[in-house]
Amino acid sequence: MNKQDIQNIKQLLSSAKKVVIVPHKNPDGDAMGSSLGLCHYLTKLNHDVQIIAPNDYPDFLKWLPGDSDVMIYESNTEKSESLINEADIIFTLDFNALHRTGNMEAVLASSEAIKIMIDHHQQPDDYATYMYSDVSMCSTCQMVYHFLEMLDAATQINSDIATCLYTGIMTDTGSFRFRSTSSTTHRVIADLIDKGADNAQIHNNIYDTNSYARLQLLGCALNNLKIVPELRTAYISLSQKELNKFDFKKGHTEGFVNYGLSLEGIVFAVIFIEHQQEGIIKISLRSKGDFNVNEFARAHFNGGGHTNASGGRSELSLSKTIEKFIAILPSHKKDLKA
Ligand code: 5GP
Ligand code: MN
Repeated sequence: MNKQDIQNIKQLLSSAKKVVIVPHKNPDGDAMGSSLGLCHYLTKLNHDVQIIAPNDYPDFLKWLPGDSDVMIYESNTEKSESLINEADIIFTLDFNALHRTGNMEAVLASSEAIKIMIDHHQQPDDYATYMYSDVSMCSTCQMVYHFLEMLDAATQINSDIATCLYTGIMTDTGSFRFRSTSSTTHRVIADLIDKGADNAQIHNNIYDTNSYARLQLLGCALNNLKIVPELRTAYISLSQKELNKFDFKKGHTEGFVNYGLSLEGIVFAVIFIEHQQEGIIKISLRSKGDFNVNEFARAHFNGGGHTNASGGRSELSLSKTIEKFIAILPSHKKDLKA
């Protein structure tokens, strides 16, 4: 984002506007944290702001300040579409292509609002009027912080904004341990704590609100964990039947894939989760080091993301999807063993 863009956006925000903020489908901590953080700031400036999430998200995010005002497109489609059609400005946060909003793609594409993208995913599409895209960033929440700095508005960050932004930085960095976590990230986090983010409480709200059923589902997932030691790969599967048995709710499988990656010597971990209702297998992929799971998901499973964290899908059955995966793996032998 250059100086002229910033100047234009400042000008744009200098009078009250109708603003819609959109996170990606199946929003995570970074998507909701960045949307709510930005929403609190723009509301302070007296804009008329509405966050519209494509679909519902996990309960462990529903304590975030401002959560109760979030509209869900899937369950409030008509109202959502009229807000989008009437909006002066649409912020799209934490995604790089409009199809990442699922069924919202068409209405967003046809809207004449000024679109502002803030995002850290690779290979962004060119749909936005103003594009703040930086793949070196650990999270969109850190980018919202820098965006406010660029607008000379860092002093406007209150405890609600700080809490939302802290949450997304924490979740997208695996609690500040992924390689994308920089010294700047820590400086931003320090400032957010100074501005009222209660780090211990936030950590508790996100990670220590497990249900017994979720831990049992984790047990099942760990039982299903398989390794391919010669290719330094681990994978987990969960069938719909297993999900039902342990009273699956949205968000319950969050983080499971990382257990594969915690195994000594493993650099590539995948989880395959059956979604009978949608008729797909949802796939999450993670890696350590140079193995690029963004490319892998794009090439084989209709997905994408980052170098070390990506997602994708398969329309084959669970067992056929895993067969396909096993068949593909050896063609990546060189990269997996490097
Ligand atoms: P997760 O495995 O947690 O769903 O997603 C990991 C990362 O990959 C996230 O940054 C997410 O935005 C991205 N991602 C997940 N699913 C997809 C997908 O279907 N397409 C693309 N392009 N990115 C995805
Ligand atoms: Mn993110």
